[in-house]
Amino acid sequence: RNHKRHTTCRNDITMLNAPLLALFESLIPSDEEKLKQKQLLTLLENLVRKEWPNARLFLYGSCANSFGFPKSDVDVCLQMDLGDIEKSEVLLKLAKIFESDNLQNVQALTRARVPIVKLMDPVTGISCDICINNVLAVVNTKLLHDYARIDVRLRQLAFIVKHWAKSRGVNVTYQGTLSSYAYVLMCIHFLQQRRPSILPCLQRMQVTYYITVEDVECAYFDQVEKLQNFGAQNRESVAQLVWGFFHYWAYCHDYANDVISVRTGSMISKRGKDWTRRVGNDRHLICIEDPFEVSHDLGRVVDKHSIRVLREEFERAAEIMQYDPNPCVSLFEPY
Ligand code: ATP
Ligand code: MG
Repeated sequence: RNHKRHTTCRNDITMLNAPLLALFESLIPSDEEKLKQKQLLTLLENLVRKEWPNARLFLYGSCANSFGFPKSDVDVCLQMDLGDIEKSEVLLKLAKIFESDNLQNVQALTRARVPIVKLMDPVTGISCDICINNVLAVVNTKLLHDYARIDVRLRQLAFIVKHWAKSRGVNVTYQGTLSSYAYVLMCIHFLQQRRPSILPCLQRMQVTYYITVEDVECAYFDQVEKLQNFGAQNRESVAQLVWGFFHYWAYCHDYANDVISVRTGSMISKRGKDWTRRVGNDRHLICIEDPFEVSHDLGRVVDKHSIRVLREEFERAAEIMQYDPNPCVSLFEPY
């Protein structure tokens, strides 16, 4: 595969900046959309508090990590002391409450890997998933959001990568491809690896934010307003970064031996994590370490078939970024 590794990128790459930036602008949600999401959260909070006065609701996922598209579902985490009540009981109760308030398509999925209640707000048309006490998701949402505040190029790259993944059908975890969360981590890691680097490794810096969630210690530097010029030494534009991202995953990543790790800001070895063999359903064919749950490989959904699909898509994207006269169309062609 390495023979395809191009030594330099196309010389007209800067021409692609304007269209890629225009695409990025078109993908970010408007203030109006953000406001609607906040209103829905307030509505839900009021309903929930009538039953459980001490419960709190948090947004997580793409509506709170700054990598969300306008039409994204709203992910909500209900935090409460369950005592000896079963989660499923709370979910069924929630479903009843929401239904009697005229929310639509209310469904309690009590047996899912992450049990949730789904609903749709008929006023705004926004769909919403509510889970219970999934604090780690709230914390990793904050981490992604904090990284996004350091250098605008992270959001630019990640929106384009997510848009590509959705267009090409490789953002479907139940089909063995990667979650949006995994793609954003891949982007963060890629920008940490640039030389000069565009993003720091927040978990290797002085600890200003600390929380323990079910024995998992989450600690990092979150005063990112102090890092506004961090990436200034690196002048790469979004087009070069998109080119570089796909080039990396198509021709440079060592799938057999390496794990990408945002936590360490570097590459670590599969051997060190004992991710070299299949254990149960975890095949570790592409390894992306969760920044906090370090035993968790976000690539574990990927199987023998979908790894081929993914790598072919990375190669297709890399070839398009290198040779195609009109990459901003070809890259996102529906599959
Ligand atoms: P989309 O725009 O596709 O909805 P999203 O940012 O909401 O994107 P998801 O992959 O749906 O991304 O994940 C929602 C949130 O759930 C993530 O931001 C993350 O906090 C958490 N999450 C998702 N998958 C995992 C996982 N495998 N391990 C830990 N947390 C996860
Ligand atoms: Mg989501």
